[in-house]
Amino acid sequence: MSELPKPLLTADQIAKRVRELGAEITKAYQGRSVVLVCVLKGSYVFAADLARAIDLPLRIEFLGVRSYGSGTKSSGVVQITHDLTHPIEGEDVLIVEDIVDTGLTLEHLLNLLGTRLPRSIKVCALLHKPSRAIRSVPIDFLGFTIEDAFVVGYGLDWDERYRNLPYIGTIAPEGDES
Ligand code: 5GP
Repeated sequence: MSELPKPLLTADQIAKRVRELGAEITKAYQGRSVVLVCVLKGSYVFAADLARAIDLPLRIEFLGVRSYGSGTKSSGVVQITHDLTHPIEGEDVLIVEDIVDTGLTLEHLLNLLGTRLPRSIKVCALLHKPSRAIRSVPIDFLGFTIEDAFVVGYGLDWDERYRNLPYIGTIAPEGDES
C-alpha cells in the first residue's frame, strides 16, 4: 500500500480537541494528582500531548498490551507485554487509550487495574467507534466518535506503519474482510 491515508481528522482538529480534553480533566481532578496510564503502543502520541494539556501534578505509567488477532481484527485476548512500574493502590488512575473499537481491550484493562485497588479509575479515549462495540465500557473523556473505518496516524498503526503521520486518516487494508 503506497498511497497516503485519506484525511479524517486534521492535526489542528486533534490539537484543539486535546487541549479541550486537558482542560476537562484538569477541572475534574481539581486538588488531586493523577496517574496517566498510557496504553502502548497506539496511545503514545496522544498521551504525550494530553499530559502537556493537563494542569495537575501527574505521574505517567506505560502499559504494553498485545491484542491477539489477525490484520485489523481484535480478538479481545490481551497479553500484557510491559507492566506498570509503580503500584497504583489509592491513586486516581486515568487510562489513556487511542481508540475503543469492540471495547474488549478496555474491559480487560479496567478489570486488571481494578484489582490493584486504585482510589478511582477512569478512561480517556481519543477515538470511539460505537458501531463496533461488543462490550459497553465507560469512556469518561472522549475526543471523537467516528464511523467504522480503519484509522491510522497520530500513534495508530497499520502493521507498524503510519504512527508518525501527524493527522488521522483512513485506509482500507488489502485482504481485510472485516
Ligand atoms: P478493541 O479491543 O476495543 O476492539 O480494540 C482496541 C485496540 O485495537 C486499540 O487500542 C487499537 O490498538 C486497535 N484498533 C482498533 N481499531 C483500530 C483502528 O481503526 N486503527 C488502528 N490502527 N488500530 C485499531
